[in-house]
Amino acid sequence: MKQRIFITRKLDDGVLAPLREKFDVRMWESESESVPRDILLQEVAEVDALWTVLADNVDRELFEMAPKLKVVSNLAVGHNNIDLEVAKERGIIVTNTPGVLTETTADLTFGLLLATARRLMEAENDVRTGNWTSWSPMGYTGMDVGGATLGIVGMGRIGEAVARRAKGFDMRILYHNRSRKMDAEVEHGFEYVELDALLGEADFVVILAPYTPETVGMIGARELGLMKKTAVLINVARGAIVDEVALYDALKNGDIWAAGLDVFTTEPVPQDNPLLILPNVTVLPHIGSASITTRLGMMKLNGQAIMDVLEGREPENRVV
Ligand code: NAP
Repeated sequence: MKQRIFITRKLDDGVLAPLREKFDVRMWESESESVPRDILLQEVAEVDALWTVLADNVDRELFEMAPKLKVVSNLAVGHNNIDLEVAKERGIIVTNTPGVLTETTADLTFGLLLATARRLMEAENDVRTGNWTSWSPMGYTGMDVGGATLGIVGMGRIGEAVARRAKGFDMRILYHNRSRKMDAEVEHGFEYVELDALLGEADFVVILAPYTPETVGMIGARELGLMKKTAVLINVARGAIVDEVALYDALKNGDIWAAGLDVFTTEPVPQDNPLLILPNVTVLPHIGSASITTRLGMMKLNGQAIMDVLEGREPENRVV
């Protein structure tokens, strides 16, 4: 009997073709709607491989209902939707898609930074809705990006790619990680600082650390209070790294100038999230890696990893 794969979203047929030749591939046939939990739990009872997206909660209950499961491959570099401890306990391999999305996510991060600094969404909306009534000397004025100081919290693959873009804008680049990157400091002139110093000095604070127990709520009221009143916060990492209630207060009270968010604590973000009514917030629906080439590249990595595990080879991009 062929080994079985279950895919939790409709994915590209071309990417799936090699898997279909060898395995029994089943798929939830919607691109935009998550597979209902009860159907997911029924499907995993018979699967050897599970191909997931961030919206799928791969927890102990799911693992316990999947006696034959050998591999979970996640269509993302982040893997906070998967209980890695339980996967390890049960000897189940987990893989992700790092690297292939680095440049695309850095492009989006820098685009969001520019859009937030120069109020592009607000201005565009006014043009479309007929509210552009006259040229005004201080209308739509924002913050300069060129020559400003950028602070990156989480200077990994994407952080470095953002910093390289920022060099083209003559920005000074500060970063904070748990460990220093001496090579990048020497090669590119990035400056390592403690988190509080970064928050106090940067004109643009960009969050690109992973979601871990250590980073949840890492940017709260105290940290936002350290930022300049003219500063902009950009979060493209994971929503819960920033305390959204504290962020709302800081933006509303003018403690910081603006925020650009590609990620939220709850996604899709509920319409009653008060951040959505603030004019100094630019919001996007978690599209960091959303270019055609990158998304197909991510799918190919997942597909290959599943193929490797099911055929007894060590996969690339193994998380556990
Ligand atoms: P990465 O190469 O692993 O970089 C993460 C960096 O964060 C590392 O340099 C790490 O350095 C640092 N870090 C870890 N824990 C930290 C902490 N407690 N405090 C400060 N820094 C810390 O990962 P990446 O590929 O650049 O991706 C980064 C994150 O971006 C992912 O985890 C994902 O959540 C997010 N992402 C979002 C999108 C999107 O669509 N919005 C797309 C791709 C990725 P140390 O270990 O030295 O601390």
